[in-house]
Amino acid sequence: MRFVNSDWSPGYINVCPQHIVIMVECTACGVQKPFDRDSLPKHLHHALIVEIEPLLKCSCGAKAAKMLFGYYVD
Ligand SMILES: [Zn+2]
Repeated sequence: MRFVNSDWSPGYINVCPQHIVIMVECTACGVQKPFDRDSLPKHLHHALIVEIEPLLKCSCGAKAAKMLFGYYVD
């Protein structure tokens, strides 16, 4: 399966439909990994995407995350 970025953002995390796949891309090293909504602390459940992104740290050490919203294709 391949992730396709729809170049769309819900603005707020809580209005993102469940069927949308959220991927976190590190703009420093380029790695992409699926975002687990359940991992969000409660105080961020209604946060703006731009508020969440700076909090996500990549395994490379960079805090340069970009959240991508899209879907999988075979
Ligand atoms: Zn990285």
